[in-house]
Amino acid sequence: MTVDVWWARIDQARDEFAADLDEVERERLAAYTQPEARARFLLGCTMVRRLLAARFSLPAASIRLDRTCPRCGKPHGKVRTDGVELSVTHAGDLVGVAIGDRPVGIDVEKVDPHLDIAGLAQVALTPEEIHELSGVDGREKVHAFLTYWTRREAAVKATGEGLPAKPRKITAGIQLEDLDVDPDHVAALAVVSAEPPVVRTFRFGSDPRR
Ligand SMILES: [Zn+2]
Repeated sequence: MTVDVWWARIDQARDEFAADLDEVERERLAAYTQPEARARFLLGCTMVRRLLAARFSLPAASIRLDRTCPRCGKPHGKVRTDGVELSVTHAGDLVGVAIGDRPVGIDVEKVDPHLDIAGLAQVALTPEEIHELSGVDGREKVHAFLTYWTRREAAVKATGEGLPAKPRKITAGIQLEDLDVDPDHVAALAVVSAEPPVVRTFRFGSDPRR
């Protein structure tokens, strides 16, 4: 079982990409006031559309995407389409998309040295993980915290469950992979599968067909 992961940097975003977006996506794009958040959203939509267009031999604008939230019905849920499983993540300078045949979840976070690890760890980590964190300091501690955090976020995205009220161990049947991106970001991939996936990584835009 193979999962393909594509990464792009926000400076790859171009205003003309908006031409391929549907009405719901354009409405959301227009609501962004922060340029970097806008670029991340635009790039995420464009990557999904172009990657699926290449996969299904269809024009990018014709790809039908469903983001209906299972809880409230608004279009801010996990992106879905027929015939393939996918997940999108953006943080800092990066946007990532994972595509596979089994439910997938991908999460990236920017390494922020000023992150309130102590406070976040209490609500987001298991006692074992908090214990592990006590052995490291500084940037290494932030990195270690984000490794746990992105694994959990990726698992939540893969299973489609909401964030658990209390931290708990990742359930069986979910494969977790830490993804190497760059020194400023931490990322993880989760796949609902009995077997570990073969992860293929691509730079979005390096292949002219994508
Ligand atoms: Zn909702």
